[in-house]
This record gives sequence, C-alpha cells and structure tokens, in this order.
Amino acid sequence: MEKADILSMEKEELTEFMKGLGEAAYRGKQVFTRLHLKKAVSFGEMTELSLKLRELLKEKAGLYGVKTVKKYKSSIDNTIKYLFLIENGYIIESVLMKYDYGYTVCVSTQAGCRMGCSFCASTIGGLDRSLTAGEILSQIYEIERQEGIRVGHVVMMGCGEPLDNFENCVKFIKIISCKDGAEISKRNITLSTCGLVDKIYELAELKLPITLAVSLHAPNDGIRKRLMPIANKYKYEDVIRAAKDYAEATKRRVTFEYSLIDGVNDSRENAEELSRRLKGILAHVNLIPVNSVKERSYIKSSDKNVRAFSRILTEKGIENTVRRKLGADINAACGQLRNSEVKAK
Ligand code: SAH
Repeated sequence: MEKADILSMEKEELTEFMKGLGEAAYRGKQVFTRLHLKKAVSFGEMTELSLKLRELLKEKAGLYGVKTVKKYKSSIDNTIKYLFLIENGYIIESVLMKYDYGYTVCVSTQAGCRMGCSFCASTIGGLDRSLTAGEILSQIYEIERQEGIRVGHVVMMGCGEPLDNFENCVKFIKIISCKDGAEISKRNITLSTCGLVDKIYELAELKLPITLAVSLHAPNDGIRKRLMPIANKYKYEDVIRAAKDYAEATKRRVTFEYSLIDGVNDSRENAEELSRRLKGILAHVNLIPVNSVKERSYIKSSDKNVRAFSRILTEKGIENTVRRKLGADINAACGQLRNSEVKAK
C-alpha cells in the first residue's frame, strides 16, 4: 500500500487528509459518505468533486479493498461464503447469513491466525498478516454490492483473532458505526476473542456498546489447555473475571462460545463444572457442536449429548442456546475454505 489508505480513515482523519490536500474540511465528510454509505469503488464516480480533485485523490490515495476470488452458495440455507483476495496475495474468507432479523456478515480480521486453537482451521498455517480497517470494512461492502443488500449485523468471527489486531478492529468498529457512513449500530456488532485478558480490559475502557464473545470451550484450565494454547498464558479464572468485568463496565451481556467435542468437553460433569464457573455472570452460552475439520481429528458431540449439556446448564440457571448450523455443505466454518484454496494453489 504505497498510497494513503483512505478506506481505513475515520471521518476526522479523512477530513485532515482532505485539508492536507488543500481542500475545505467539508470534503472530508463528503468523501467519507461516498466510501462508507454509497460504497464507491473508485474516485472517478465521485462526480460531486471536481475532475482535478478526483485526479489528485487517485494520485495520493488508494482504495485497498478486497477482491472476490470465489463464491459458494449453500443449497441447504441462504448462506454464502466468499473467498477474497487482499494486497500481497493473501486470501481471507467471509460469510453472509440470512436470519429473520436481516443479514449478518461474518468478517475475517487477519489472514491466518497465530493463536493455535487445536480444533480451528484458520490457524493451521499461522498468521500471514493482520487486516487493515479498510479491508475488514470492504468485506461487508463487497458483499452488499454483489447481493444488492444492506447488512445490519456483523460478527467478527472469521479468520483471525480480533484482539491480536486491536487498533484496526477498533477503527473498523468506529467507522462502520459512524453516522455519516454505513451506520451499523454497535449493538449489532459482536467481537469474538479466544480470551486475551489484557486486551479485554483495554476494550472495556473504550466503552463501545458491542457484544463481546469469549471462546471458552472448556469448564477448566486442564481441558482448555488441551484445546487452546492461549490458556497457558491466561488462567481460566482470569478470563472469566475479565468477561464479568467487561459485562459490568459496559452493561452488555457477554457471550461464551462453547464448541462441544465428543469425549473431550461434553460430559455431564463438564456441564456442571461450567455452570458453577459461570454462576452470577451477566452472560449467555452458545453451544456449538464442533465442526469437523479435515486436518483435525475431533468429532462433534452427539445430538443427545448436546441436548443433555444444554439442559444441565438451563437447570443450573445458565442461559444458553444451541447454535443452528448454517452453510454445512460449503465448509462455512472458519478457515476451512481458505485452506482448501491455498492448498489447491
Ligand atoms: N479468534 C476469535 C474469533 C474467530 S473464531 C476467537 O477465538 O473467538 C470464531 C469462533 O469459532 C470461536 O469461538 C472459535 O473458537 C470457533 N471455532 C473455530 N473452529 C471451530 C470449529 N472447527 N468448530 C466449532 N467452532 C470453531
């Protein structure tokens, strides 16, 4: 990216940038609206700007958005998965899901991931690089343009660990929710983390009313360490405390993600221990039968075990939902498609 990364600029930054080009401040808002509300793909189409200014922008600024490589449509539900190319030739993926309340996009925040969770496909090749705010935004805009829709909800649950790309993810949230742009409510944004405790506190300080999802996947450190290397860095109780403090600081209910793996974390004792650990926290547990990943040997819990696990949590007063699986026929689980594409190359 040798030119200014204009898509990653917050409105105030863009205003400063335009002033730096010798333009009036209001041009900042004008270009911001063009990029983030009208979803422009070129400076040429910004006809409200003089030809001279459009040429100047082309020279000084770049639109470093994602480019579609492939698109897979599920024949079971309306889920669509996109493989996108970013600068330097890396590939990322995004998913469009249709719910009763509208469209949700699952965005990637990094190409690859360095967290090493043992059940996850995104981390197999390690981290290529973190995405810019503009590249995260552009996944949504590209999908909206292609499908002719407006997206109302965003989940940061694609490839990557958002809190390992903290600044760009916060910028993304600020830009996507800005009233002169796409204006997706922060309440409709979920950020999912494997539990980087220090960063959870940093995020809480910003008091953004987004939903925090914490990937827990275990009732204790013993099991968690087998699944998630990050558990060697942050203790289980510290992760839970950070989530609890986050809920109290933001008054937002946190979500705990719990992938159920046959014989690993899905027993009655596991459910009971999890209930004890989460008692008294403003939280909701999402139970997800693990998606089998070709490179990994985990098997998902049986329907019977999933139901039993859920029932125990409910009995113990822990709110929970068993997540409906979307896009099962198109490898919609994170990282799966990207890996097959990277290998095929
Ligand atoms: N790095 C972030 C967000 C990306 S993954 C995080 O760890 O939360 C989004 C969610 O999918 C996480 O809860 C992750 O643990 C889960 N996940 C990854 N691979 C999975 C698989 N094979 N089956 C079920 N859930 C999986």
